Amino acid sequence: MKLKRNTMFLTEYLSPVTEVEIWCKQHGLEIRTAQCSNCNKTLKTDIPFASKGIRGLFSGVCECGNEKTPFVFTTKD
Ligand SMILES: [Zn+2]
Repeated sequence: MKLKRNTMFLTEYLSPVTEVEIWCKQHGLEIRTAQCSNCNKTLKTDIPFASKGIRGLFSGVCECGNEKTPFVFTTKD
């Protein structure tokens, strides 16, 4: 089975990037970019997070120290 082999491969060589890709696929999320509201640097929502009933991606704290960074999420069903 082709699908099974791919899954095994991904598990064996799991890196932060593939984890995010799997996360996106599992929850129908999409990595987005947005400007920092403070310094206009482009921020990427590529860090997976899970909270009560919510699955999403957020962007880490900006280099300028702005913690109000962009995020996307979906409700778990
Ligand atoms: Zn910034």
